[in-house]
This record gives sequence, structure tokens and C-alpha cells, in this order.
Amino acid sequence: MIKIKKRKILLLPGDGIGPEVIEEVKKIINWLNKNKSLDFEIDEDLAGGCSYDKHGTPITDEVFYKALESEAVMLGAVGGPKWDNLDFSKKPERALLKLRKELKLFANLRPAICFKQLVDASTLKPEIVSGLDIMIVRELTGGIYFGEPRGIKPIDNGERKGINTHTYTSSEIIRVAKVAFDLAKKRSNKVTSCEKSNVMEAGQLWREEVQTLHDKEYKDIELNHMLADNCAMQLLRNPKQFDVIVTDNLFGDMLSDQASMLTGSLGLLPSASLGAKNKDGKMRAMYEPIHGSAPDIAGTGAANPIATILSFGMALKYSLDMDKEAQNLENAVQTVLDDGLRTKDIMSKGNKEVTTSQMGDAIISKLK
Ligand code: NAD
Repeated sequence: MIKIKKRKILLLPGDGIGPEVIEEVKKIINWLNKNKSLDFEIDEDLAGGCSYDKHGTPITDEVFYKALESEAVMLGAVGGPKWDNLDFSKKPERALLKLRKELKLFANLRPAICFKQLVDASTLKPEIVSGLDIMIVRELTGGIYFGEPRGIKPIDNGERKGINTHTYTSSEIIRVAKVAFDLAKKRSNKVTSCEKSNVMEAGQLWREEVQTLHDKEYKDIELNHMLADNCAMQLLRNPKQFDVIVTDNLFGDMLSDQASMLTGSLGLLPSASLGAKNKDGKMRAMYEPIHGSAPDIAGTGAANPIATILSFGMALKYSLDMDKEAQNLENAVQTVLDDGLRTKDIMSKGNKEVTTSQMGDAIISKLK
């Protein structure tokens, strides 16, 4: 067999169930290397609490530079009660924030898809969620999570004051809006932009810049503006009205978690964080499931690996230009669900409960 492609992928399994779900991705990569004449070069290292335990820091410079040199970073999850009382700068989550910030991963893509086989796992009525397929594009490196000044300081009357600053520049808004419009072109040509322009100047700027960009470059796409609180309500009332939603860091954090629950389980939803393309059309990117390290089920074999496997599918699509392999993987997941295999989190009557590793093996057995 002729080897045709050599691609560098950095795996950062992290903490809790992270290593368990990343293990299933490793199996898939090995399958692709063996059966599809691909040549993925896998490197694996520490990030999060496990890195703090070994090196006293949530991510070492060495790992950070490996991430810079990889075509795609696949992360499991970080954090857990063991590290809850650490200083903010040492917390496992700092690894994620550093990677997102320093790799300039400004666009977080979170699809919320309701698999037809799992309609009953949602807390909403089947007719509201059946066939749901929306994409939330969250700005990831700006806004109130990074704005200065920030901190907690004493004030005159003996009280303390907590300060965070919500700030966006035109270019930060435009680059993420472009990602949303470009995605909409490949989907249903519809973008909803969310902010709080009624009470926040940064929200007013957001709305104006998105509209101006639309009028200049994306006239053929339907653009709606919606206040973020209304969007939260509409996501529950009639989620299928949306195709692509673009919003800032804070509102995106909340709206994407809310959208994820429309689909029934955190264990099913992938995400991609993308940076800008360079001259050669290559971009930095990190892929991860949206769930956390689930310490309550770590080590029990109950973790659902599908979110992480579909995150790898997004890496195939967005970083590695392997749309066919991505589709193959998505189809394999669908077939396994059609066959009635379920991890504990999505188990229902009449189906067969399987472990993390059995789910991974079943998906591999359906790859073509
Ligand atoms: P969580 O997502 O880890 O778990 C929430 C609930 O969902 C738990 O009951 C868990 O068992 C279940 N769950 C999550 N993923 C699952 C999967 N793949 N299969 C089956 N069930 C799954 O959120 P949490 O409990 O709020 O946080 C736990 C730790 O994870 C915290 O330390 C938190 O800071 C961290 N966290 C990390 C990330 C990340 O690494 N990106 C994201 C969120 C939370």
C-alpha cells in the first residue's frame, strides 16, 4: 500500500474520563492508518490536573510548543475536585484558556444535532427537537473572560469589588462573523447574530459590524439579529428556527450549553476551536467534546466516547481536508445507534448497554 499523507496530531487526554474517551479516538486513528493508507503521526502529552501533578503547572512550555506545531490538537477534558482549591493560575482549566488564547483560536464551533435514534433522551417534546441540526459559533478569545481591568479589590467602605470588563473591537467581531457566514453557505444560508445591544455598547457595536459585513460580503445569506436572552428562550420554544447562531464569548458559553441539552446528553456533542488561516490556507485548531472530565463516572467504563469521536470527525473535516473519512465516521456512529447500542447516559428500554470501549469498537466495526 502507498502511504499518501503524513499528518501530525497531538492528543491531550487530560483528566477524569478524558483518557478513556481519547483512547477510542486513538483506536480509530490506528484503524485509518492501517486501512486507509493514511499516515497520522500521533503524539500524546499531559494537560490539566495531570500536568499539574507531575510538573506543577497545568501545561508546560514543551507541550504548548508541540500544540503550536501540530495540525490539530485533540483534547479529552481537564479538571476535577482534586484541583478545585488551587490558585486560579494553576487550575487545570488554565491549560485550555492558554491554548485557546495563544493559538488564537477565536471561533468555537458547537453543533447541536438531535440524532433521530435519541429523540427520547431530550427533555423536550420529540416534535420540538426531532431533526434538530444547529451550529453555534462562539467568539472564544475576547469579551468579558479576557477583558482588562479585572480582579477583586477592596473599596472605601470596607467592601470588596469584583471587576470584569466586556470589550470587543471591530476586527474581533468581523473575523468570527465571517466564520459563521461561511459555514452558513454550506448549510441553510441563515445566520442569527445574538448580543445585548439594548443595554450594552459592545453589543451595539457587535450588531453594527455584523450587519455591515453582511451587506458588504454576504448579501445572499439571511441575517437576523436577536437579543441573547430572547435567543435562550427561543432555543427552548422553537430551536429548529435556527441554522447558524453567532455570538460572543459569554453568551456563547451559555447558549451552547443550553443547546446541547436539547439533544439529550453531553456525551454526544463535539466541538472545534479554529484560528485564522495562514498564507498556505492552514489554520491552528483544537477539537474537544463539550463535556467535562465527569469525575463521577471516571474509571467505570460508563463514559460515552461519541462526542470525542465526532470531535475527531470535525478535525478530519476542518483541519485535515478529509471530508470523506469524516462522513464515513459519522455514518458509522449513526449505524451503531441504529443497532441499538447505548452507553449508560443514553440507555433506554429495548436497547443494549455497552461500555466506553465496546462503543468505540462497535463504531470501528462499521467503518468502511
Ligand atoms: P461534566 O461535563 O464533567 O459532567 C456533567 C454530567 O454529565 C456528569 O453527571 C457526568 O457524569 C455527565 N457526563 C459528562 N460527559 C459524559 C460522557 N462523555 N458520558 C457520559 N456522561 C457524561 O461537568 P461538571 O461535572 O460540571 O465538571 C466536572 C469537571 O470537569 C470540573 O472540574 C470542570 O471544571 C471540568 N470541565 C472541564 C471541561 C473541559 O475540559 N473542556 C468542560 C466542562 C467542565
